[in-house]
Amino acid sequence: MTVSNDIAYAEELDAQDSCAHFRGRFLIEDEDLIYMDGNSLGRLPYESLSLSNDLVRQQWGSRLIRSWNEGWFTAPERIGAKIASLIGAQPDEVIVADSTSVNLFKLAVAALRFQAGRTQILTDDLNFPSDLYILQGAIDMLDKQHQLRVIPSADGIYGPVEELRARLNEQTALLTLSHTVFKSGYMYDMAALTEAAHTAGALVLWDLSHSVGSVPVDLNAANADLAIGCTYKYLNGGPGAPAFLYIRRDLQERLINPLTGWMGQQNLFGFDLKYEPATGLRRFLTGTPPVVSLSLIEPGVDLLREAGIEQLRAKSLRQSSYLIDLWKAELEPLGFTLKSPREQECRGSHVSLGHAEGLRIDLALINDMRVLPDFRAPDNIRLGITPLYTTYRDIHQTVQRLKQIVVERIYERYPTEAPIVT
Ligand SMILES: *Cc1c(COP(=O)(O)O)cnc(C)c1O
Repeated sequence: MTVSNDIAYAEELDAQDSCAHFRGRFLIEDEDLIYMDGNSLGRLPYESLSLSNDLVRQQWGSRLIRSWNEGWFTAPERIGAKIASLIGAQPDEVIVADSTSVNLFKLAVAALRFQAGRTQILTDDLNFPSDLYILQGAIDMLDKQHQLRVIPSADGIYGPVEELRARLNEQTALLTLSHTVFKSGYMYDMAALTEAAHTAGALVLWDLSHSVGSVPVDLNAANADLAIGCTYKYLNGGPGAPAFLYIRRDLQERLINPLTGWMGQQNLFGFDLKYEPATGLRRFLTGTPPVVSLSLIEPGVDLLREAGIEQLRAKSLRQSSYLIDLWKAELEPLGFTLKSPREQECRGSHVSLGHAEGLRIDLALINDMRVLPDFRAPDNIRLGITPLYTTYRDIHQTVQRLKQIVVERIYERYPTEAPIVT
């Protein structure tokens, strides 16, 4: 069956979409500005807009220091518990703190110390570069006792599953991967790889930055040890909002946070001079949280809980399949390649398209065509599908505008070097 490239067909799909009303819960000032980058920075929920006024004017301005006892102090656990419900974890297994990079550092160092005698960290070259940098820093700090093994993907799209399995052995301390990889959107089978790692005695740390709020994740069912993730992407938490970390309950008291600050102290207002880690996950807190941006995570998480991840996943897959069908019919003949998996079961919620003129096409899309995607070197135009607010019409229009850029050679107006943020 060939896909209809008719806009009326896209509008019919929107009319039938049971998630469509969630779009009205977000600030959308310009219906013709197509946002395909909710996988990098989620849109602003209206609820966050009113909460931000309350937070600053009321909670900070009027309540002052009393607000710490009126919800601020417990926010890392309260919001963590809500995130837990999106990723198959218990309420006391997730806490919000710091950035994803910093949480990776804390968990990786804790895991490596716990796994004394094992010297290898296993990952792949599809992982987010910051994750690899953090692991390099952790190795340096632990006196270079560990080796980082970065297993390459054969095609830059699919994770090297068999090679990873083959490299797991009694030397492996930690396997750490992005569950959904940032460029191609490939998604690992969490349960299968976790089980393989456990068989070798290794711990597993999953980076859920591109998975949380976009695909169903079941950490408990996979018996996952550790996880981290981002809140400003599919959770719509706002730019630079703090991240979360997960530690399986039976490991919580056996791991030590290397960044030992007072927020992780057992009796922090005792002001004892000796560090005593708190029981439970609070031991993985370090300093005072950024209360305003921490609090603003909650409305986005509530929206996802209300919509239900299964329903959103079903829409996301219908939309990414629609996009891939349109690519095949309209864009492949113009030199665009598909740089994401075609199989639904291993595809996250974004689709990457490659093109020899990828960067210039991306710039034309943003500046002339009123579509906001993002770009990942060397030639990936990344199109993020966020089922809470992406419409079929958005997808249809994105494809038409990509086509026009190439057919009319609009990209030729742009230089070949990249701006700072792509
Ligand atoms: C977005 C993302 C991060 C972000 O890390 P920060 O510390 O917030 O900069 C980390 N890992 C992955 C896989 C990501 O996609």
